[in-house]
Amino acid sequence: MNIENNIKTIKQSLPTHCRLIVVSKTQSEGKILEAYQAGQRDFGENKVQELIQKYETLPNDIQWHMIGHLQSNKVKFIAPFVSLIHGVDSLKLLQEIHKQGQKINRIIPCLLQAHIADEETKFGFSEEDIIQLIRSTELQSLSNIKINGLMGMATLTENAEKIRSEFKGLKTLFEKIKIMTLPPHVEMKELSMGMTSDYKIAAQEGSTLIRVGTAIFGERNYQH
Ligand SMILES: *Cc1c(COP(=O)(O)O)cnc(C)c1O
Repeated sequence: MNIENNIKTIKQSLPTHCRLIVVSKTQSEGKILEAYQAGQRDFGENKVQELIQKYETLPNDIQWHMIGHLQSNKVKFIAPFVSLIHGVDSLKLLQEIHKQGQKINRIIPCLLQAHIADEETKFGFSEEDIIQLIRSTELQSLSNIKINGLMGMATLTENAEKIRSEFKGLKTLFEKIKIMTLPPHVEMKELSMGMTSDYKIAAQEGSTLIRVGTAIFGERNYQH
């Protein structure tokens, strides 16, 4: 795989409102540096320990995105440096992110994960839950978080029209929330949707952040 070329090709295909996050989970520091040398600065990881290790050893102008499921008891480890937490899927997690942000006097940017796929296993809020959460008084007091938008994962299927309709649904929810009266620390500006198999559809449907690994590095090897 030519990492630099792959990044270039993907970037050229994206509309201007859409940014590439290179998903570097399981990838060596050498490979991440290849992407870095091609000008890439946004990287996504899904495991806290791996994220910390890479944060500590790789250049400090990298923006690290936590894209995986995050457990409350691990928030404290990434709170000081994480650039955006994509998969926030409970009020409890938001409260913990707020608490850790408060301790270090940092406002931590988050995205709420919406459940848009058919699969039971995918985490996330329902549409109604998200709207209820945004309107709730509990949220008002969480001054050390900033909700910057939504994140979602489509069903793993070959059916492009199904994927498209799930992304369309998420975009509609995003636009619906945008015109609501929102608390000062909620703003709908980022819509994180699309990975290797479906980022082209996601970009067409209004994604502002795509999270792509395999199309850049090739198939992942989980053996280490
Ligand atoms: C691994 C992962 C990706 C990237 O997947 P690819 O198919 O390799 O592009 C995107 N989003 C999340 C949440 C992931 O865990």
